[in-house]
Amino acid sequence: MPELYVDGAWRDALGGGTREITCPADGSPVRTVSEGGPGDVDLAVAAARAAFDTGPWPSTPAPERAALLHRVADLLERDAAEVARRESLDTGKRLVESDYDVADVVSVFRHFAGLAGAEAGRVVDTGRPDVVSRVVHEPVGVCALITPWNYPLLQTAWKVAPCLATGNTFVLKPSELTPSTALWLMDALTEAGLPAGVANLVLGDGAEVGAPMTEHADVDLVSFTGGLSTGKRVMVAAAATVKKIALELGGKNPNIVFADADLEVALDMALTAVFLHSGQVCSAGARLLVEESIHDDFVEQLVERAALIRLGGPFDDDAETGALISAAHRDKVEAYVAAGVAEGAKLLLGGERPTGPAYDAGYFYLPTVLDGCTSEMSVVQEESFGPVLTIETFGATGASSDEVEDDAVRLANDSIYGLAGAVWTRDGGRAERVAARLRMGTVWINDFHPYVAQAEWGGYKQSGIGRELGSAGLEEYRETKHVWHNTRPTVQSWFDGRKP
Ligand code: NAD
Repeated sequence: MPELYVDGAWRDALGGGTREITCPADGSPVRTVSEGGPGDVDLAVAAARAAFDTGPWPSTPAPERAALLHRVADLLERDAAEVARRESLDTGKRLVESDYDVADVVSVFRHFAGLAGAEAGRVVDTGRPDVVSRVVHEPVGVCALITPWNYPLLQTAWKVAPCLATGNTFVLKPSELTPSTALWLMDALTEAGLPAGVANLVLGDGAEVGAPMTEHADVDLVSFTGGLSTGKRVMVAAAATVKKIALELGGKNPNIVFADADLEVALDMALTAVFLHSGQVCSAGARLLVEESIHDDFVEQLVERAALIRLGGPFDDDAETGALISAAHRDKVEAYVAAGVAEGAKLLLGGERPTGPAYDAGYFYLPTVLDGCTSEMSVVQEESFGPVLTIETFGATGASSDEVEDDAVRLANDSIYGLAGAVWTRDGGRAERVAARLRMGTVWINDFHPYVAQAEWGGYKQSGIGRELGSAGLEEYRETKHVWHNTRPTVQSWFDGRKP
């Protein structure tokens, strides 16, 4: 089946390569896709450019754009079971999580449908009766949308929905590992009535398709979600033609537990924070920072609970979490754990692959806990992006309350990343003080991993540039223009020689 979607039609890629998509849980074949290359990117960008420059979409009234987004949400509700199945087969995640993700995607499309017509612009009082002045928002142009594999359709929706809500056209490149739901989306957009050329899809890897998209002179905006090193390359490529960019990059997120927290809930959420989707979550709470006075009890209970976590495939109703995305990714996770142990961390749990017929053909890795960590260790500083929890201790015995707090904040901020973090305490004042001092785009107080849809989402420091979601999300996809209209132009006589 052709998998290049350009100018409203499926066609064969010029690139000519194919890729076998297999389920990470058991290696079973999912589909074979044909992948594109730079020539396909040229075709797709040309279609998006023409649709932007001469097509009806950028000037389609906002209520019609909103109605289209609602129709996409309706189609997703109709096809929810099939879309969730595809997502689970590509990623290996439990079907129940994919069901949840699909419901999230529906709400993302409806959310941006609601925003499409909001804030059309404003009139500015010039103080001069004959001069009308207004600020209007306009689409940016052709957008290159590049997404990762951990939440394939959700990440795509966070880009496609605001991009369309504001009247742009786009070329989408999903992760080469998880293309199946993007294929569904192209058909859904067409069925919903999107004009040809507005939405284009090129499958392929970063070198062959992603990089040419970010370098292309006819692309106006790049919205990228992925790893830090790739994000840096995207930023450099986009600089050549000063493209607008939004980067949603990695995180190494601290989960701070003070001794006065509700420890039962904190423990429960500490497990969810790091082991959900086997840690393959940008906002995973992979760094546990625990106050010294409760360290031993808290960690003992945490390890006991983590040891009971059941691994399994997407359709195994007993499984609590699934496989890693690929063999290469599992190798990377293993290397981080080995490095941590070599640097002095104490392995309390996991650190190996599960064995048995249910696991041998998949990329499973056991929930892993490393204690005695310090912020110099690579396993603490860098994203392993796997089910690996590192534990650091703060607030040495005898320290004052202020010193304990300072110590926690200093450790938590000791990172090049600034995506998310959490603070657990029953002291409301301390919670607010710590939240204010954390240099992170999202801070949870007595919570972790609640819903990020329909909310602000974006990173401080090297976790990114720009905001992904919410009302500010539209700003990424709009140019703002100030229009001055002098309704009674008159000769000013500044240079007519009559002035002294
Ligand atoms: P990745 O950087 O390897 O790939 C992301 C995408 O970029 C893929 O589609 C890939 O093909 C493409 N790509 C690769 N090289 C490219 C290049 N030179 N130019 C343009 N595109 C290129 O990331 P991944 O492994 O797919 O995803 C995991 C990463 O994503 C983690 O670091 C995670 O933290 C991050 N992530 C961040 C957020 C967030 O909101 N901040 C959300 C999800 C995932």
